[in-house]
Amino acid sequence: MSFIMDCLSVNEKGNLSMGGCDVKEVAETYGTPVYMMDEDDIRKNCRIYANAMKKYYGDRGLVLYASKAFSCKYIYKVAMEEGLGVDTVSGGEIYTALKAGFPAEKIYFHGNNKTEDEIELAIKNDIGCIVVDNCDEVDRIEEIAGRYGKTVKAMFRVSPGVDAHTHDFIKTGQIDSKFGEAIETGDAIKLIKYASIKKNINIAGLHCHIGSQIFELDPFCETAEIMIDFIDEIRKETGIVISELNLGGGFGIKYTEEDDPVDFDKFIEAVSKTVKAKTKEKGLPCPFILMEPGRSLVAPSGITVYKVGTVKRIKDIRNYVCVDGGMGDNPRFIMYGARHGALLVENPLGEKEETVTIAGKCCESGDVLVENIELPKAKKGDYLAVLTTGAYNYSMASNYNRIPRPPVVMLKNGKATVVVKRESYEDIIKNDLI
Ligand SMILES: *Cc1c(COP(=O)(O)O)cnc(C)c1O
Repeated sequence: MSFIMDCLSVNEKGNLSMGGCDVKEVAETYGTPVYMMDEDDIRKNCRIYANAMKKYYGDRGLVLYASKAFSCKYIYKVAMEEGLGVDTVSGGEIYTALKAGFPAEKIYFHGNNKTEDEIELAIKNDIGCIVVDNCDEVDRIEEIAGRYGKTVKAMFRVSPGVDAHTHDFIKTGQIDSKFGEAIETGDAIKLIKYASIKKNINIAGLHCHIGSQIFELDPFCETAEIMIDFIDEIRKETGIVISELNLGGGFGIKYTEEDDPVDFDKFIEAVSKTVKAKTKEKGLPCPFILMEPGRSLVAPSGITVYKVGTVKRIKDIRNYVCVDGGMGDNPRFIMYGARHGALLVENPLGEKEETVTIAGKCCESGDVLVENIELPKAKKGDYLAVLTTGAYNYSMASNYNRIPRPPVVMLKNGKATVVVKRESYEDIIKNDLI
């Protein structure tokens, strides 16, 4: 029997094992809830992308880790060691990356409404590239860069008008989007023209991102075609030759048995064929290509381990397995109706005996982690692992109900290292002034 996650196995005690560590022992040592991540598995994913980029573009491509998926100092160190760049979307992410010693020139800064403070932080620290969203932002950047006497390398976020088949909340490639300007409406070319007369902005490239958790190759290839057509349009209308093209992230991963993702390198291969054929057809030089996966680099390498407190069996209605965490550490169900797998840590391969809903401890009926999953009978005191939580869990965690955020423990070669410590009640009140 295999698990949904490659990095999980069962050890000689019959317990769940990850990164050479006994998951139960790690949970006993650090308490629950606890996020655990398999470092070598993250590095393996980084290398699949980096190697595929090298294979299809040589030294004319770069993988950026979209760090909103999981951001803490340590992950920037891992990304740096693996030779990746990073994509950030806020001053906080930029600050964390810089504090981790991440090279500024390989930090890309996104966002549909960057504040002046954030832009200043980026410019002051010589961040590699700002991905510009709109004309207001062009003005802000021009003014701040002027003040610092610097020229900012800029990419422009455009919407290619591709409908990716995914949840509405994580769809971003359509015209009705708060991100970027649409090619179809003419707003995108206006943005480029507007920026082209600014003396502190260097127009380097275009950026797009069509959504997240996408399982098909076609939307990515279609997007690449549209973007290259647009590069051609820009050259014809303005004479500007776009030299970099960022095709975004969004590659789908396996959360449940029904999910059937494409191998990550297949995405890169398919897109590279489109890029090469299309640029040739248009007589354009092949741009430097960037891709920015987030979820697929870290989600499959993480689990969250909880302790079962109460099991409530409501006859003929539902069985609730209540754990000591919930929407505060994993808001994905309440936000997107997302689905995760789950296992009992001390009986991961046990026969499935009942259908349960794994609920959290917050004061919301929607505070569910996994709805209707088959598990062996769980009882009070059992450790329960929710799977594939390496992305958009810790990074989206909150202190709702004043519950301290769990620690992140990195597992590698049988060793567990706490990279983010558990918050204390003192942390919770530290900004309460009176
Ligand atoms: C969220 C996001 C990504 C990463 O998406 P994943 O689905 O996590 O791969 C990449 N680029 C941009 C601009 C994003 O907003």
